[in-house]
Amino acid sequence: MLPTRRARSDLLLLAVSLSLAPSPGLAAGSEVPPELRTRAEASSFRATSTYAETLDFLGLLQARSAYFQLGAFGTSEQGRPMPFVVVSKDQAFTPEAARRLSKPIVMLQGGIHAGEIDGKDALLLLLRDLALGLHPAVLERVTLLVVPIYNVDGHERVSRFNRPNQDGPEAGMGFRTNASGLDLNRDHLKLDSAEARALIALVNAWRPHMHVDNHVSDGFDHAWVVGYATAEAPQAAPSIDAWAKANLPPVAEATRSAGHPIGPYLELLSNDEPLKGAITPPYRPRYSTGYFALRNRPSILIETHSHKPFRTRVLGNYTWLGALLEQVASEPSALVEAVAAAERRTVALGVADAPASDVALRYGPDRDDPAAGGCKLLDQTIARTKAAGGIDILGQGTGGMLGVGHQPSVERALQAVAEDDIHPGAEDDERGRQEPGVDQGQAGPDRQAPGRLAHSFRT
Ligand SMILES: [Zn+2]
Repeated sequence: MLPTRRARSDLLLLAVSLSLAPSPGLAAGSEVPPELRTRAEASSFRATSTYAETLDFLGLLQARSAYFQLGAFGTSEQGRPMPFVVVSKDQAFTPEAARRLSKPIVMLQGGIHAGEIDGKDALLLLLRDLALGLHPAVLERVTLLVVPIYNVDGHERVSRFNRPNQDGPEAGMGFRTNASGLDLNRDHLKLDSAEARALIALVNAWRPHMHVDNHVSDGFDHAWVVGYATAEAPQAAPSIDAWAKANLPPVAEATRSAGHPIGPYLELLSNDEPLKGAITPPYRPRYSTGYFALRNRPSILIETHSHKPFRTRVLGNYTWLGALLEQVASEPSALVEAVAAAERRTVALGVADAPASDVALRYGPDRDDPAAGGCKLLDQTIARTKAAGGIDILGQGTGGMLGVGHQPSVERALQAVAEDDIHPGAEDDERGRQEPGVDQGQAGPDRQAPGRLAHSFRT
């Protein structure tokens, strides 16, 4: 049946109001041109943008703003160009030009685990806001290096069932690993994958002052939407740790005040006994969170809560990223100086006749001692640097010699984990390679061993 004239005009009004919906970041009454709505927005957050749609969208932003440049930093194993965006009011679109500015270079990354894709959709909203004139202080004082989809091949391997415990996007999401089954968030040191080699080459060229890695959690249930963690001292250099402790709490508060519940990213002390509590562990350098700490950068992990709806997660993620950039822009020299101080310290520790320093070669929390709340260390190998070069192995240690069994600022031993909130999972092997066919970040109930509660908590 054809609509009546009245119905047609109502439909027209509806279409106009939908196409000019305000951006979540724009003031009330401000409008987003229809072509600058992201796929997530246009689909009412039923879908995430494809690789091609993402490139098209970034191309539109580049055409609109003289401060955007879209490029590729490598080629994936299946031959896809790996996109990145530089946002610079100075048009400092090369590493050399950007480093000459003495402004902080902030690297924001989405889709290292391509099924956990909220970060990309949040980054597209944030980049759109910047192109429309929001966050003027950020544009003025910070250079952005944005990798919207790191694992581009995994991103295009779409299924609604790749992460069965994740609440959307209901139209489907990409896959955890690259085309060879390698988990890129286990590949920062061995660099087996073409993608990781390209990413580290990008980092080596640009030397960003901060790295932010966006994920979605694997099922630990809690009230808050946005989980976050960062490497702390002694894993992080003292100046980096001080920067994070001064600057991340205001970011969390701004996110919370904007209506997005936020809390720590946690892992269970025991996968079999969730009531033992939870910690935020120090991540080894094969993970991004450990790798960028090793390179003397604030290394920030975001994990939106997989049980929350896609829209809720993306908007929380986006609000957090915007607040973080505003915080950096409020005192840009503080970040640059913190990184410079950390690098000077590393060089000083390595020169001839440097005072000996202790380093933990291996460490881990005592997951079997609930009284210690994960704070007691075991399996700790301590080495001491020698003035003439090299190291002496001092032997095994236990106790809090270096205090690296957990991230100290995180509340220990949260006891509120209900057993029926726990979902089963499976561990990857040491090389980070996984079986084909299932995103093992979230294995389904059929993988649960009878009579056993298990869980995989991954970043
Ligand atoms: Zn992840």
